[in-house]
Amino acid sequence: MSILTRSRLGRLSFLLFIIAVSGALILSFLVSCSINGGDDSPRNIILFIGDGMGEAQVKVGSYFATGMEAGLPFQQFPVRSVVTTYSADSPITDSAAAATAMATGRKVNNGVLSVAIPGDGEPLETILELSLKQGRRAGIVTTTSITHATPAAFAAHQPSRTDGASIARDMLHGAKPDLLFGGGGEGMDPQMAQESGYRVITDRESMLKLTFKDLPVSGQFGTTHMPYESEGLGNLPHLSEMTQKAIDLLSQDPAGFFLVVEGGRIDHAAHRNDVQLLVGEVLEFSRAVEVALQWAEGDSHTLIVVTADHETGGLEILHGASQGQIPEVRWSTTGHTGIPVPLYAWGLGACSFAPQLDNTEIHQRLKGCLLK
Ligand SMILES: [Zn+2]
Repeated sequence: MSILTRSRLGRLSFLLFIIAVSGALILSFLVSCSINGGDDSPRNIILFIGDGMGEAQVKVGSYFATGMEAGLPFQQFPVRSVVTTYSADSPITDSAAAATAMATGRKVNNGVLSVAIPGDGEPLETILELSLKQGRRAGIVTTTSITHATPAAFAAHQPSRTDGASIARDMLHGAKPDLLFGGGGEGMDPQMAQESGYRVITDRESMLKLTFKDLPVSGQFGTTHMPYESEGLGNLPHLSEMTQKAIDLLSQDPAGFFLVVEGGRIDHAAHRNDVQLLVGEVLEFSRAVEVALQWAEGDSHTLIVVTADHETGGLEILHGASQGQIPEVRWSTTGHTGIPVPLYAWGLGACSFAPQLDNTEIHQRLKGCLLK
């Protein structure tokens, strides 16, 4: 065989290889898009937000848990995307503006919760409120105080994220989600919730005993943010336990549900540039996603989206690490950055989130799913 023929054959086999790989990728994409069968809209939507969780934060958790950079269950989701996060008045967003973008599809100034600023200051309907209007159940789960910026943007309308009492009033009297699990205080208190018709619980044991007939329920766990995982939770529930209970309760209504789950203290660990704290928070967040995935695998009507509101710390991994080891990292700031964040989607409607998005488009895609 001549050298020329051999090189032609080489090119041909390379071409066939590329066609085969492309075909396999397209096929796997199509399969992932039809997970749970066809183009039906999802009845249930679970949106996970890792506050401050950039790609590096995810990888740090993955190295510690698995010794690999992409070993966490949600990193295996069939649809991957990258999300831009700038706010109306800054290339670097805060949680209020970023959560408002995801909840309402509108860019607002930093510090603003789901009202049109800039603009006429009017309330902007959130995806949680739309879900309730459509007859679905709705819930919010977080490890920060429940009135903190990210959860607040889904169920409150305030020009300032610092006005905890007004945020709590909006949540309890306005949006009225079926379930609120998170840290108490910061404007929220048991009496206020009881007066609005909520059953109030304050510890893990009472949470585990809740049944569907207890809705609406306000879990006020402590009087500020919940403890970091590495500090120990005492008699308070872990994020994965709150997520499991929320799904158990909300899924009993055949009309479906919208649930937003925030790993809120990932951000706080990153502000402190503390990688040990960070790993504990990322891994508990990952366990919460796993709980949802295990439930949804037995259901044929669910969309799971995992993303972040922004990156915190400018985290960079210098060297990977084996299982049980913390990778060597470098931080560039104790504040937020404008680094785009990852998004992972699974289930009905997951395809519409690929391959890149602005954070306002997360709202558009979720709304598209609800209104289909
Ligand atoms: Zn922050």
